[in-house]
Amino acid sequence: MTITLHDGARDGTPDGLHDGFGRRIDYLRISLTDRCNLRCRYCMPTHGLAFAPDDALLSAAEIETVVRAAASVGFRKVRLTGGEPTLRRDVVDIVGRIAAVPGIRDVSMTTNGIRLVALAGELKAAGLTRVNIHVDSVDPSRLADLMRWGKADDLWAGVAAAEAAGLLPIKLNCVVARGYNEADIVPLARLTIEHDWTVRFIELMPLGSGAEAQFSIDRYVSNADIAVRIEAALGPLTPLANADASDEARNFTLPGACGRVGFISPVSEPYCGNCNRMRLTADGKFHLCLLHDDEIDVRAVLREVGTGDGAVGEVGDAVERVAAVLARAVAMKPIGHALAAGVHTEGRRMHAIGG
Ligand code: SAM
Ligand code: SF4
Repeated sequence: MTITLHDGARDGTPDGLHDGFGRRIDYLRISLTDRCNLRCRYCMPTHGLAFAPDDALLSAAEIETVVRAAASVGFRKVRLTGGEPTLRRDVVDIVGRIAAVPGIRDVSMTTNGIRLVALAGELKAAGLTRVNIHVDSVDPSRLADLMRWGKADDLWAGVAAAEAAGLLPIKLNCVVARGYNEADIVPLARLTIEHDWTVRFIELMPLGSGAEAQFSIDRYVSNADIAVRIEAALGPLTPLANADASDEARNFTLPGACGRVGFISPVSEPYCGNCNRMRLTADGKFHLCLLHDDEIDVRAVLREVGTGDGAVGEVGDAVERVAAVLARAVAMKPIGHALAAGVHTEGRRMHAIGG
């Protein structure tokens, strides 16, 4: 297949693949595992889970090959997610391999932060630039109710470790569920007054076909509702210009605050028109849109060509073959989600895609 690249960057490198709707796709989100040390109610059940076996997961070398392929067609940003990405024993090696790929300018991670106490320094040294840490509550019992196995002290220790290691800027991802943590909306937003953090409220989305999807529908709170509560308690939210047009968050600042409050509103204000991402699942599928089931397998190609032994010829072949699969995946990205029509991802829960 012929890959259509668009020259645009000043250094002459390709500036990314364009999908069928003219969107430039240059951001790869890689799930490292579908396993997690927590069981947030809207994401994972506590029983009946079947995780991908170890040999189904892409190896560090295979992930590096996918990133080399992505960089060769103009991808510049990579985010690691999960499941919980820090559960991968080779997570530091993976970060180092990705950070060393020519063309990749930003390697970030979305994590629940628990393992950052042990890993933040090593991750930073390996080339991780920043982290988004998932904390839904300032209250230990509400946090444990919603994030189930989560212990507040562990999560906040992770935030402190990330800050100390220089994984900046710190962004906190907060999911609000009606009847669980609405009392946290104002205290979470208030954190931005004293801390140079971005506290981002993410609207609940239904994924999978189990109780988590129903929970996400039943407990949904719109970001407009959240903003009203914040303004009533803390004053007006002043909009900030987004430095990055494809930032899915709309960012604001509160009076006297050094940080920012962000709203990610995929349900009430879809931002599909600005989508610039491709997702890679831990078991080696390009997942074309978070809220659709469409996928294209890349693992079979990786394993057919072979990438593990570092032989230059083989890796070169693999990069080219994977770039062709990626181009096909980009070309097939759907125009956007169809939550309003009742369509959502059924085949995978959130922990098996990565958000
Ligand atoms: N375990 C890591 C974490 O929690 O940050 C990374 C994976 S998690 C799936 C990525 C993000 O998805 C988290 O910030 C979490 O808040 C968000 N998330 C999980 N389930 C969600 C849902 N049903 N709707 C909206 N956001 C969700
Ligand atoms: Fe784990 Fe993240 Fe899902 Fe919570 S949201 S269960 S921390 S993968």
